[in-house]
Amino acid sequence: TKNLLTVEQLSQDLCQAASVNEQMHRLVERFQLSESERKVRELLVELLQEVFTEFFPECRIVAFGSSVNTFDIHSCDLDLFLDLENTKIFQAKARSSSEQGLLEDTCSEDSILSDIDLSTASPSEVLELVAMVLRKCVPGAHKVQVLSSARLPVVKFSHRELGLQGDVSINNRLAVRNTRFLQLCSGLDGRLRPLMYTIRYWAKQKQLAGNPFGGGPLLNNYALTLLVIFFLQNREPPILPSVNQLKEMACEEEQCVIEGWDCTFPSQPIAVPQSKNTEDLCALLAAFFTFCEQFDFAGSVVSLREGRALPVTAFLSKDEEANEAPVGEHLEMEEMRAKPRAPKLGPLNVLDPFELSHNVAGNLNERTQRSFRHECEEAAKYCRSLQYQRKSAKGKVWGLVRLFIPRDGDAPSSTGDAARQLVVSIPFKVTVLSETLRRRLHSAGDLFRQLWFTEVCKAILAVFQRVLGCTVVHGKTAEVPKGGYEGVDCSDTKTIGKGVKRTLSEEEALPICPADKKPKLHSAAESGVVQWWCEVQHRVWAGRRKARRDLLKSLPETSRPEVGSVELEAEVTQRILLDHPAAEKLLQFAVEAKVLGGTEDTRAELRFTPCDEHASIFQDFFHFLELFLPKITEKLLEKVD
Ligand code: ATP
Ligand code: MG
Repeated sequence: TKNLLTVEQLSQDLCQAASVNEQMHRLVERFQLSESERKVRELLVELLQEVFTEFFPECRIVAFGSSVNTFDIHSCDLDLFLDLENTKIFQAKARSSSEQGLLEDTCSEDSILSDIDLSTASPSEVLELVAMVLRKCVPGAHKVQVLSSARLPVVKFSHRELGLQGDVSINNRLAVRNTRFLQLCSGLDGRLRPLMYTIRYWAKQKQLAGNPFGGGPLLNNYALTLLVIFFLQNREPPILPSVNQLKEMACEEEQCVIEGWDCTFPSQPIAVPQSKNTEDLCALLAAFFTFCEQFDFAGSVVSLREGRALPVTAFLSKDEEANEAPVGEHLEMEEMRAKPRAPKLGPLNVLDPFELSHNVAGNLNERTQRSFRHECEEAAKYCRSLQYQRKSAKGKVWGLVRLFIPRDGDAPSSTGDAARQLVVSIPFKVTVLSETLRRRLHSAGDLFRQLWFTEVCKAILAVFQRVLGCTVVHGKTAEVPKGGYEGVDCSDTKTIGKGVKRTLSEEEALPICPADKKPKLHSAAESGVVQWWCEVQHRVWAGRRKARRDLLKSLPETSRPEVGSVELEAEVTQRILLDHPAAEKLLQFAVEAKVLGGTEDTRAELRFTPCDEHASIFQDFFHFLELFLPKITEKLLEKVD
């Protein structure tokens, strides 16, 4: 279907367009949610609204983020805000009436509200309840998990049949409002959307944005979006007004203050005069890269509120006036003092247009900022070439296509980049392949890389699942959206659990694919990139050598599995599991497998990105994987027929 688009198909499609402008519009068409996908999301929101109302009377579920901000893509998550304001009032009323003995307790015995006082409960207590409701009462919801340590605590969940991921947060009014702001900007000028899709995709391909776990040192999509809007505010003549100007155009009913921050802007684009700027998309994209290439990121703070760059020195001084004060005179002095007023400054400073003490790019480190600038320079240079501007008469790739070439993980400019990522490389070795596979590879000519890569991916999946007892879920890739590569064999997910203490709960052992589908990793591997999310509950690497020795000693010589074999390693893992109880969510990480190099040096590269809070323990695991993975994968490849 249209949704399952490989890089190859996308390039072909784009190359057929007549102009860069058209390429950008095609990109939007290819990536945006289809009508039915949108409908599915709406229905899920309705379902959730119904279920949650049962437990939290008068609550409201509001979608925000990319599924509604007009920058949606097939795989984007569903961000939801559970507004409990009215529920709080409801609860307070119910309590006071029952205290006065006027009424029966409105919160019936089995209501969640009788367990919790919303006016005093901590966010994580409320989120635990939300998680429980999702687990028990929302059909199809699984992998429900409370992340209370995130900047904004959320409950994450997946929906099995709908194949989507969602987040529920409770204190997120600002995000709902800034989503409205992005919608407004999109409505103000039709050029923003195609430009945004192009830049988001470019940033993703260059590994600059879109960390699967959020946080981390990469630019998040929201920060990138703001940067693009800022760029459009700074065209000559401007394409978008500053947020202060927008505020002036709002009417009385549109006044809005959230947590002391002024979030006033018109609700409809009609209130804002059209821009006089007539630049086309092709020129704007090139100008964006040049803009970023030349921008003094270290010395300035990007302010969408003012629509211009502010000197970083203004934020360094303790001078009260230099800092913008939160508006709303009604703020209590206490609250004013408690509010951190100065943003956290770093190598890239993009102020939130509303929460003015928040640098949305505050998570970036020097290195990621440098690679951002470097990629902007490269892109700007390319955009000056004819290859960008003109359709090739000879059928060569042209225009946007070259901008989307993924950054080769081995390029010198990127070694050691993206701080937390760790890389294991598995070289293609003809010698390790079975005779049959080798023949197939040779006869397949150019396809050999793909074939080999598919086998490597299968082997790696088997190592994680069968040998190391990880739970594996397919991640999203740019090329193979949501729903993933149908098919990877999931029948083995539980192997490790069998017969030993540990059994995977229903939650963990989610199937990777509908059980009736035949294993077929090929479609994913063909695109050259495969991604998984893995979870380990045990330190399967700790004390492994000893466990192996003991195991071998305990077995009669005749029935000992071969040293280095998959069987032996799987048993070693089982032994470790028997001795060590599972820690809950010990470690989560993403794996991205890519095939790289030419015929001479074909190799599969595995990039590991640990979940933020697991970064240090992951180091240990990674050191183990570095040696273990290539060896055991080779072993598995020997067996491929
Ligand atoms: P995608 O999910 O496709 O990456 P998104 O825009 O939905 O894009 P999320 O990270 O899911 O990005 O965030 C959801 C919404 O939360 C954003 O659209 C934005 O409104 C808000 N948001 C995200 N990050 C920040 C941030 N650092 N500061 C303020 N608001 C943010
Ligand atoms: Mg989102």
